[in-house]
Amino acid sequence: MSLPDHCRAIVFNPADRTLALRELPMRTLLPGEVLVRVCLSAICGSDLHTISGRRHPGGPLVLGHEIVGQVAALGEGVETDCLGEPLALGDRITWGIAASCGRCFSCTHSIPQKCATLFKFGHETLDKATPLSGGFAEYCYLVPGSVYYRLPDDLPDHLAVFVNCSLSTMQAAVRLADTHPGDSVLIQGAGLVGLCAAALSAHRGAAAVVVVDPCEERLRQARSFGATHTAPSAGPELLSQTARGRGFDVAIEACGAPAVVPEGIAALRIGGRYILAGCVFPNATAEIDLQPVTTKLLTLQGLHNYTPRDLQDALQFMRAGSQCFAFGSVVREVFPLESIGEALALMERDPSILRVALSP
Ligand SMILES: [Zn+2]
Ligand SMILES: [Zn+2]
Repeated sequence: MSLPDHCRAIVFNPADRTLALRELPMRTLLPGEVLVRVCLSAICGSDLHTISGRRHPGGPLVLGHEIVGQVAALGEGVETDCLGEPLALGDRITWGIAASCGRCFSCTHSIPQKCATLFKFGHETLDKATPLSGGFAEYCYLVPGSVYYRLPDDLPDHLAVFVNCSLSTMQAAVRLADTHPGDSVLIQGAGLVGLCAAALSAHRGAAAVVVVDPCEERLRQARSFGATHTAPSAGPELLSQTARGRGFDVAIEACGAPAVVPEGIAALRIGGRYILAGCVFPNATAEIDLQPVTTKLLTLQGLHNYTPRDLQDALQFMRAGSQCFAFGSVVREVFPLESIGEALALMERDPSILRVALSP
């Protein structure tokens, strides 16, 4: 496969919050790297936060981290994926949102997503030292320390594309929550993250999966992702219907609204577990009464990104889960790179849209 010396990419400039289609130079592949031709890249909620100015990247960059691509070139020394499966040119792969060093304190304490020299796809400022690393481009370089897996042929691009973000993060959430068969689970937020949490909780055998969200259009979809009950908020009536009157075993905050946290705490049973996953922006403050946290022996656990094992488990789940839940409807529409403006406008118009994707 001969490779071009330039490729097209959408560059986001945080200074004036503009997106522009540009030709960027490609560079020689280094040992240990993989060059990927991007097949599909979904626009994630966090990309929208960056574009709207709620998150502040350091400089111009190529956004997009929910990506499926084909191996276009293998750097010296790379012969297999991270499970030891042989890799060949043209193979479809997915990869973890972050590349880590494997040696620092965080990497050696089972939190590689907090590596001291973390490299995050779709988040790195474009400069001479950093190769193309975002999904809104024709090519992406997987630097050493990336975690990539060959995709099975029965997992199409539109199902695999969001596995490495929303689904893997919620795989980590149900792992940390230790969700068991028979549990009652409260999920705050019916965006894609919340719906992934619902499907994974149902798959683990939760007896009640309650999704709350103020947006009715979003709630309507939750039933096809394993929700047994939906409501605008977790009031006392819902609690008595779904949590045996004693409170939820597990609550997952998947909406990024600090104001829902007191309600989540109030809804938990004695000994309940609360996973906080959505507030990834500065000044996410909430007034919390610590008395019930203390006297109800609650566990509050923060979650940000996930481990390679979570991505493996999420991929495994998706192969079976796509039959049981409405994951096939997640990517509503696919646009070419140059139509990113149209794609963003569509997402803004319709809050029930979970994902729109770009295909370079
Ligand atoms: Zn994402
Ligand atoms: Zn590290």
